[in-house]
Amino acid sequence: MPHNTYSIAEIKQILNAEGNVITDTYISVLLTDSRRAVNTHEALFFALRSRRDGHEFIDEAYKLGVRNFIVKQLPRQVFENANFLIVPDVLKALQQLAINHRDKFDLEVIGITGSNGKTIVKEWLFQLLSPDKNIVRSPRSYNSQIGVPLSVWQIANENTLGIFEAGVSTSGEMAVLEEIIKPRIGVLTHLGSAHNEGFASYDDKVKEKLKLFQHVQLLIYQYDALVTFQDEITAPRKFTWSREFSQSDLYVFSETIISKNYYLRARYRGKEIECLIPFLDDASVENAITCWATMLALGYSAVECDKRLEHLTAVSMRLELKMGINDCTIIDDSYNSDLQSLEIALNFLSQQNQHKNKTVILSDIYQSGLQVDELYKQVASLIGTKNINRFIGVGEALTEHQRYFNISKKFFYTDTQSFIKQLGKLDLRDETILIKGSRIFGFERISKALTQKAHETLMEINLNAMVDNLNFYRSKLYPRVKVMAMVKAFSYGSGTFEIANVLQYAKVDYLAVAYIDEGVSLRESGINLPIMVLNPEAAAFDKMVEHNLEPEIYSFNQLDEFVKFAFRNKITAYPIHLKIDTGMHRLGFDVLEVDELCDFLEQVDCVKVKSVFSHLVASDAPQHDAFTLQQMKRYEKAYLKLERALDYKFIRHISNTSAIIRWPMAQYDMVRLGIGLYGIDASIPDHMNGLQPVATLKTNISQIKRITAGETVGYNRMGKLAADGKIATVRIGYADGYLRAFGNGIGKMLVKGNLVPTVGNIAMDMCMIDVSNIDANEGDEVIVFNHEHRIEDMAQEIGTIPYEILTNISQRVKRVYFYE
Ligand SMILES: *Cc1c(COP(=O)(O)O)cnc(C)c1O
Repeated sequence: MPHNTYSIAEIKQILNAEGNVITDTYISVLLTDSRRAVNTHEALFFALRSRRDGHEFIDEAYKLGVRNFIVKQLPRQVFENANFLIVPDVLKALQQLAINHRDKFDLEVIGITGSNGKTIVKEWLFQLLSPDKNIVRSPRSYNSQIGVPLSVWQIANENTLGIFEAGVSTSGEMAVLEEIIKPRIGVLTHLGSAHNEGFASYDDKVKEKLKLFQHVQLLIYQYDALVTFQDEITAPRKFTWSREFSQSDLYVFSETIISKNYYLRARYRGKEIECLIPFLDDASVENAITCWATMLALGYSAVECDKRLEHLTAVSMRLELKMGINDCTIIDDSYNSDLQSLEIALNFLSQQNQHKNKTVILSDIYQSGLQVDELYKQVASLIGTKNINRFIGVGEALTEHQRYFNISKKFFYTDTQSFIKQLGKLDLRDETILIKGSRIFGFERISKALTQKAHETLMEINLNAMVDNLNFYRSKLYPRVKVMAMVKAFSYGSGTFEIANVLQYAKVDYLAVAYIDEGVSLRESGINLPIMVLNPEAAAFDKMVEHNLEPEIYSFNQLDEFVKFAFRNKITAYPIHLKIDTGMHRLGFDVLEVDELCDFLEQVDCVKVKSVFSHLVASDAPQHDAFTLQQMKRYEKAYLKLERALDYKFIRHISNTSAIIRWPMAQYDMVRLGIGLYGIDASIPDHMNGLQPVATLKTNISQIKRITAGETVGYNRMGKLAADGKIATVRIGYADGYLRAFGNGIGKMLVKGNLVPTVGNIAMDMCMIDVSNIDANEGDEVIVFNHEHRIEDMAQEIGTIPYEILTNISQRVKRVYFYE
């Protein structure tokens, strides 16, 4: 990252902060997340209060070498040689510092907002304008109250253009973002009707967004989107585009598809102009038109626009986590490479605990805006901070600058092909490998060589969506309520360490598994969070203790067995979790047994009650609310007795996912979040649902057949079409978890956006669907479930619950994890 340095004394003055500067150091990095620590000796940590209080992470940051902190109050603990600046509002201080920094540069800045497409438009403008400009831009989608200051902080002397995006989630947020970005040029992207939660109305939302453009000299937007908001547009110069309004500056009047490209014709300054875009989907086309309009508004010729737009490349900011050959885990990011995304990918790599060794395969980096020498110094220093065991550099520039890499196992190759030839000799095994390359290096060849061949039915897990879901529930919790994430049954069918790594990184407080084996495998993958085992079998108590797993104790027999085991092994104060049966009648101490339980616990010192909990049987169902309340009452009685009997505190918890929002008074000290992590919650209606589906199950078509009416399809001749038509055979069957119950038209799948029914019985490895009215081809993708055809819908189709659909997906179906 470009070097901006401020002395800490200077920052104190800028922020008008209290506190003593003990050692005057220089600051180049602003840190808001202690886990992201790089260059720690030059970092300034902001103890922001978001979902957790940043003050809780001072200790962690200090241990990583951070010595400069912006805080609201001084920590009680003494941190030697550290500077603490005290401000009334830490977030405001971060923003103030960014404003101050921005004001030092007389920089041309484009500010982007809208409901959708901000990041794509920003990245595409970066691609389109890079040939003439030295551009600083927001990393990824850093567009929030925290993201914008961090973006603007990167502005350096050599930049000739800034492109920053701004996003707001509620009224009143844009003013400060405007002040930080200070755009001279505004670009408005698609205005969707979604995400209205934080606003009184659609109009309010639009007006709030337009505040970014208060002081711009030029505004580029789609004419039709703002027809009713003319009064809000203060820009002296406007550049509009439209498909409807022929008086707009860029009037798009013709759109056709020519050999997989999208061909647009438009009227501009009385002349007909054209361009070709290498994307076909609606959203991409709209974003590309926005970029086209922006380039024209900036004075580029129509010919130049066409030339550059034709070479737009997909903005893939997703990292894929896959199973590799020789027990490796592969993080695949073979399409883009710059310093910012390298840092993000390295952070994701450092979240992985499943293997001891980590390897990075990196290509040369282009368009960094830095001198080559400085660039590779920075790359080397970044690699140096991340505990990488082996570094493989591909490209002439990296090869030339290999001296900067201070790492014992390093290898350099001038091009991808010569590296692939040597791949066998490197003996990559049992390690996590990050593959990161600029597009033109063709690193997908490396990723192909290193990943296992996938059976073509895949379940994709969106790890960001999962973290967003976690945070959605966190935002509904009272302060200090802990979260136990339920990762039993292979994390509801979606993975083991892949999920646990993310949850550990996101700082959940506890994990819970069903059996001891599941816990052991998490420990072997480097998970060190406390783990509760719901159903620990006595035969494996030794393994349980060896791996520091904490048992649920639900009966006297079982307690007795564990106490004997502990006594024999001279174990004291071993953490246990007491389960009270308040109505489920599955596992747990009866409420009437609690007095006896208290007596027993008072006499033994080999166990220590870490928590007391119960489980609600119908927390999502209004018709059982009276029973739910009764369960809570019974539970309260039980824990109160235990509190009186034990002279120490324990954690109290009863809520599963659907209780978290419906029964806030039952959050106690912790909640147990299960299916909600996957974006499913029966207790909240869809439209107010801030949750995102996490899993997508997809397969593809192996063959298409024409069938005449009356012919039969599949086993037992169960399938028939009403009229002549076409069926497609897809690669998923009941052995993959697509149950036979979905056969004969009950189940539906998505083909090119159309929901089509199954035909005939589901076979073991495949089944047939009706594609009579669809232009489908062999090899086409077929979606079994995703955010449109949801797991909930499928559950309804066959009269079961989403839990069963998810956990049924068999291990044969490969899981691929995304991190964006
Ligand atoms: C599975 C489980 C949960 C989580 O339930 P969800 O409905 O998936 O949130 C909570 N508590 C216990 C004891 C469980 O077994």
